[in-house]
Amino acid sequence: MSSKLKKRLVLKIGSALIAPMQDGCRSENLLRVAQFIVDARNKDYEVILVSSGAVAAGSHHFAKDVERSLAVKKAMAAAGQTAMMAMWDRFFDFPCAQLLLTHADLRNRDRFTSFRQTLFTLLEQGILPIINENDAVATNRLKVGDNDNLSAMVASAADANTLILCTDVDGLFDKNPNLHADATLVKEVPLVNDELIAATGGATSSVGTGGMKTKLEAAQKATSHGITTFIVNGFKDETFKALIQGENPGTKCAAYEKPLKESIHWLTHTSAAQGELVVPHDAAEEMKDQNGNIRCDELQAVAGDFSAGETVLIKDEKGNAIAKAKSNYSSCLLNFIAQHQEGLFTSQMQDSIGPIISQQDIAVLEK
Ligand code: GLU
Repeated sequence: MSSKLKKRLVLKIGSALIAPMQDGCRSENLLRVAQFIVDARNKDYEVILVSSGAVAAGSHHFAKDVERSLAVKKAMAAAGQTAMMAMWDRFFDFPCAQLLLTHADLRNRDRFTSFRQTLFTLLEQGILPIINENDAVATNRLKVGDNDNLSAMVASAADANTLILCTDVDGLFDKNPNLHADATLVKEVPLVNDELIAATGGATSSVGTGGMKTKLEAAQKATSHGITTFIVNGFKDETFKALIQGENPGTKCAAYEKPLKESIHWLTHTSAAQGELVVPHDAAEEMKDQNGNIRCDELQAVAGDFSAGETVLIKDEKGNAIAKAKSNYSSCLLNFIAQHQEGLFTSQMQDSIGPIISQQDIAVLEK
């Protein structure tokens, strides 16, 4: 896997910048973004662009009164994606590459690794990767749902140093700036955690699907991977001038001092649990405190349909979610084990089966 020599930067641009009037792509807000990408590359940054806007760029091809059902939005994205790519392509003298992803691609470890390889190869060749969710095929079950979180998953996959989330306000405010005239900009956030995200209202832009909540979720995913994250106003020239000078024009979220190990970060923030394993409270506590395995004789119940190697949620018998983990066995085998605990397992058999969850594959959930 590529080790990086250059600094790597992921830039996320929302639909409001691409298609401000929702009547197709407009370049008026994008010249400054394109110039920033060129300047950053000239300063030896490898840049990855996550661009929303396919739905907004394609919607004007549809009848005005059409109901915006999921099927119609998927079709709008298919129509708008080509226009959006063509527009980005026109700005640059270097080549661009389109990568369309769903959550299903990122939560499967093989496909995630394959995506990383493609990304690194494009960067090595000086090609600008432009990424969006594959809205035309993604169903609710398969999608990430917003490009803020997608960009953080991409930044983590890319081992980026910096994530820049462009929005239509100057950053994170202590109160909703649309409702409170005295709201002040928070320049630095030392730690993005669940409490901060819960305390933030869901102010949402009228065009995209993101809001401040999804920006902070993205910032948590990225900063816990050691990626400094900026939330900035993409409508202002000064933003990009400041960024290229290494200054903070909005809200800077500090990277965790001790980032999570890559595989644990992926388990926590990118993979999705395909099933559940119930273990006794004591076994769950022991696993947490002593970084232990889960043995087959500790398994009480299994839910869901999953293969060996897929992610499961570990719960105690009271229903508390304790950890996400990689299962060493399929739900089919684990169901059999859970239903035949009495008298089935001699310690010899347990030894030959080994742990059903291994300690290195467990991501304990934050309380
Ligand atoms: N993938 C969607 C699009 O291209 C945008 C999602 C978002 O706004 O976060 O229209």
